[in-house]
Amino acid sequence: MTDNRSDCGCDSARLRIGFVVDHELNAEECAEVRAHCETCAECAEELRVTATITDKVRDACAECPPEDLKARVYGAVSEKIGKPLQF
Ligand SMILES: [Zn+2]
Repeated sequence: MTDNRSDCGCDSARLRIGFVVDHELNAEECAEVRAHCETCAECAEELRVTATITDKVRDACAECPPEDLKARVYGAVSEKIGKPLQF
């Protein structure tokens, strides 16, 4: 039995899309995945969606924590180390 999908490069591209988005691949591998996406609408969509989600998560993580959370964490740490935190 022949697996046609293994010839198109989709499996390999899909496996690496997350790493491309996170900049965890070298330039050569990124170029391979992006080149595949230029010829494959499905993988291009996967890359677009993954990039969008990653951006949103990154934005959410970059936001400052609410003040009360900060105060609670500082308070808990201060208690643990037995002295006020200095920043
Ligand atoms: Zn593909």
